[in-house]
Amino acid sequence: MISYDEFSQNLATVEARIVSACKRAKRSRESVLLMPVTKNHPVAAVDYAQRAGLLSVGENRVQEAASKVKEGSDLAVRWELIGHLQSNKAKDAVAIFDRVQSVDSMKLLGRLNRQAEEQGKRLPILLQCNTGEDPNKYGFRVDEMESALEAALNAESLEVDGLMTIAPLDDDPEIAKTAFIGLRELRDQLAERFHVELRELSMGMTGDLEIAIAAGSTQIRVGTALYGSRG
Ligand SMILES: *Cc1c(COP(=O)(O)O)cnc(C)c1O
Repeated sequence: MISYDEFSQNLATVEARIVSACKRAKRSRESVLLMPVTKNHPVAAVDYAQRAGLLSVGENRVQEAASKVKEGSDLAVRWELIGHLQSNKAKDAVAIFDRVQSVDSMKLLGRLNRQAEEQGKRLPILLQCNTGEDPNKYGFRVDEMESALEAALNAESLEVDGLMTIAPLDDDPEIAKTAFIGLRELRDQLAERFHVELRELSMGMTGDLEIAIAAGSTQIRVGTALYGSRG
């Protein structure tokens, strides 16, 4: 694990990237949230984020997040799930996470709704869409999104904040650009059709955050550029 000073330097570098991407896209800095991804790092990574004023963190596994939530019970961050969730772990996920960004199937959507209801919560979610049509990625297909959103809006214990995508890993930046613009256009179409805001577009990571900001991302999920490579 890196030191807090190293983290601070990394954060300054990421911040400069965000500022210049916002400038190029003629967007305000405040229109994009930086969410540190603390997966595969100890709870100290979450502590660093909080010390730097970054109050939402991304985790990709229920088990790992559960132990960090326990260890870091003095921390006041929002925990967000960004990794694929098996529907049999929906109960734990609802108990632990403040938002689930990786809702990628009807079955999971139904389970989360039921668990949220049982636990007396209203759970904020994002619908994950595989706009890059990457066979290695989870997420609804674009042509499934209308029915997914309809089901999510009808789920009384879920609150749909917006959409999330992960671009295919590819050296050609056009691939990520297409996936990100695809998500934004899909959001615009769905928002109009269902008369909902869907304000959140969670897209962009260490390697493609500039492309995502240019395409309209409201939240970038950054791990490697802040904490170094995962052990
Ligand atoms: C790991 C992960 C990230 C962060 O990726 P980096 O390239 O390390 O910035 C973002 N989003 C998801 C869904 C991830 O699993």
